[in-house]
Amino acid sequence: MSAEKQNGSGEVFDFFGDVPVRVSATGTFVEVIPFDGGGRAYTYRVPAELEEKIEPGSLVKIPLGARIALGIVWKNGVVPAPEWAEKVRDLRELCYDVPVMTEDVRKLCEWISAYYAAPFNSVFLTALPSAIRQGVRPVVEKKISLARTLTVEEFSKLQRRAKKQAELYEFLGGAAESDETSIFARKIFTRAALPFSAAVINALIFSGIAKEEIVTKSRLAYDDDLSGAPAGTTVVALAPTLNDEQNAALESFRASLRERAFRVHLLHGVTGSGKTEVYMGAIRDVLNSGGSAIFLVPEVALTPQTVERLRSRLADCGTQIVVWHSSLSSGERFDAWMSMARGDARLLVGARSAIFAPLKNLRLIVVDEEHESSFKQSETPFYHGRDVAVYRAHLAGALCVLGSATPSLESFQNARTGKYVLNRITKRVDDRAFPPMKIIDMRREVLHSKGQIMFSRPMIDALRSRLERGEQSILFLNRRGYSRAMICPECGHVVNCPHCSSALTYHRAEEQMRCHLCDHVEPAPSRCPACSSAGIRWRGFGTQRAEEMLKKLFPEASCVRLDADTMAKKNEFRKILSDFRAGKIDILLGTQIIAKGLDFPRVTLAGILDADLSLHVPDFRASERTFQLLVQVAGRAGRGDLEGEVLVQTFTPSAAPIQFAKRADFDDFLEDEIERRREFGYPPERHIIRHIFRGKDQQLVEETADAWAAFFEKNAPGLCEVRGPAPCPTEKIQDNYRWHMWYFCKKIVGVSARVSLLRASFPWPEDVIDLLDVDPADVS
Ligand code: ADP
Ligand code: ZN
Ligand code: ZN
Repeated sequence: MSAEKQNGSGEVFDFFGDVPVRVSATGTFVEVIPFDGGGRAYTYRVPAELEEKIEPGSLVKIPLGARIALGIVWKNGVVPAPEWAEKVRDLRELCYDVPVMTEDVRKLCEWISAYYAAPFNSVFLTALPSAIRQGVRPVVEKKISLARTLTVEEFSKLQRRAKKQAELYEFLGGAAESDETSIFARKIFTRAALPFSAAVINALIFSGIAKEEIVTKSRLAYDDDLSGAPAGTTVVALAPTLNDEQNAALESFRASLRERAFRVHLLHGVTGSGKTEVYMGAIRDVLNSGGSAIFLVPEVALTPQTVERLRSRLADCGTQIVVWHSSLSSGERFDAWMSMARGDARLLVGARSAIFAPLKNLRLIVVDEEHESSFKQSETPFYHGRDVAVYRAHLAGALCVLGSATPSLESFQNARTGKYVLNRITKRVDDRAFPPMKIIDMRREVLHSKGQIMFSRPMIDALRSRLERGEQSILFLNRRGYSRAMICPECGHVVNCPHCSSALTYHRAEEQMRCHLCDHVEPAPSRCPACSSAGIRWRGFGTQRAEEMLKKLFPEASCVRLDADTMAKKNEFRKILSDFRAGKIDILLGTQIIAKGLDFPRVTLAGILDADLSLHVPDFRASERTFQLLVQVAGRAGRGDLEGEVLVQTFTPSAAPIQFAKRADFDDFLEDEIERRREFGYPPERHIIRHIFRGKDQQLVEETADAWAAFFEKNAPGLCEVRGPAPCPTEKIQDNYRWHMWYFCKKIVGVSARVSLLRASFPWPEDVIDLLDVDPADVS
């Protein structure tokens, strides 16, 4: 929000801060931030008839310049200087009877704007769904039905006097020969569906024969279609008896809940250790004591089981459970939001943006799979859902539980230093064994293979024995498409994207070359575009090619591929998962989509086809990501009564994250990695701000980056450690050249504020765009 406060007519006046609300001579004033006002606050007078109803967080209509705008009452208590009070305009209308933004969320927006150096308006617009911002009335239906029956005389009188009304009476189920004691089948129509004019309908209502009821149409999103559970299920599923470790964690959460103060707990529980059961115990307590809770998941589409479980388990807690995900219609969003604002729904399950929900009396936020980078938004404002969750809990005085089998280094560090309470579950439910992890050295496999190195011999044997035993396997390969690149063996030409600095990936199913950065598509060449050699061939392999190989190796097996390409087809994802669950699929092959919390008891083999893919990339988190991936994929095997096994193919079997993952050695991995990060000053030792410069003119981008660096050095010497500018690892995306610079600092806020200020005074060329990414997840 701009520091400058203006009144409704656009003039600046002194800002008094939080002085008393009412000044009898001038009335009540509120500050309103309109949605299209660049994030500025304006002052308005509240008309007497709205005084009791307007609250901070209310959505209102206001005059702004010559038009009527919509906005949020940000706070009250701002009284304009007497000389301006006369000119302050009246607020026009209150759109909804309840505030649509809670106080903690309003403060949260201000914090996000400051911390992530993002324009206030971008945060404001992110925090409030457009379905609400439009200020539309809820969908209401006018239902018309008969209010009473007519006697025979009354009816014939009506027929004589008003033929149309008598017809309407009959249409609504009234019978001509009825008398007062007769019971007729009541028919209800929406007003719009009646084939009668408004005058006829109104006349029949006016005479008391028909009646009209206004019904709010509800499209609540808690009936999530992913679950397959019937809507309005009230059968409460029984919770299993928690084991000792689960109980200890739950009791620890309860102790914090009782304090009613801000606390963060990190629940480090191995895969399949029953973390969700522990969350549900805490959620139940909160709901039963009248509080509300948010359950954040990396992606709702990937956790249908969680949603289903929460709903069936908490059905008796006397609240609606709202699911918030990207495919909700705007009407569903509206209803979901308003049901929370009214307090009808007190539990929300959703992805990143659910953290802004208007839940009152918020006492618990659970962030499941807290290490997932999908919590980070990849556009302005570049906020991290987990970190914002922690801050909201702080503002609300609530408990925040971060849970993961592979905690992020950042959270783990906070637990080590005592900032967070660490709760651990070291055993799987029922003490099930961890599946042994076998590392397959692909260098040796290459020697034995005749060209085919996608599936090593141990991998093939393991798959075969699963097929023989009627068990299921999950194979993981983090690259979709057929092959990584097309390369000409004659001249060495690689087919690159014309818009990005990246090789095109061959998608054989469509005979196309595709760019995974910008989605550029072109037909696959049959000859080398450079030397016309017909010998051009693929290099590396993707999921499509792996699928083809599998079908050759095991023609009798049912193999299905699950990646972003299959996800693009509507409902395909859901169908595949339910087929897999039903045992109709033997081998499920996929990208990272299948590494997440899926729980299938009949899977006994989890295979990673190329562990090196995430390891040898220019990212300081490469080790962490590889470790997490291995442990998470391993967690997909052996979740039922059958024993599991994990096979990992790699060319670098001695790499630290692979070795630590093999030994399931969390603490040593984390300690080792934290030490390595400290050495280089990377997070969690320090924060990073990444400053990206991009534009179509390569030279201008480079020059601008250099000029900014010099400007920064001159104006903020010693503010923080600076690295760069340098070209980004992915130097070009969608015809835009990219450079970046890094700021390393112990504390963000002072530095991001300073950088923001300097940015505002730097003469940026029109064709170069700069972005600040605070605590970046993606450094490509
Ligand atoms: P996590 O979230 O740690 O991966 P879940 O909470 O999903 O684990 O639990 C995995 C499975 O074990 C679920 O089917 C769950 O119902 C079951 N489960 C959890 N706790 C227990 C328990 N104490 N006794 C029996 N089954 C349990
Ligand atoms: Zn591209
Ligand atoms: Zn060639």
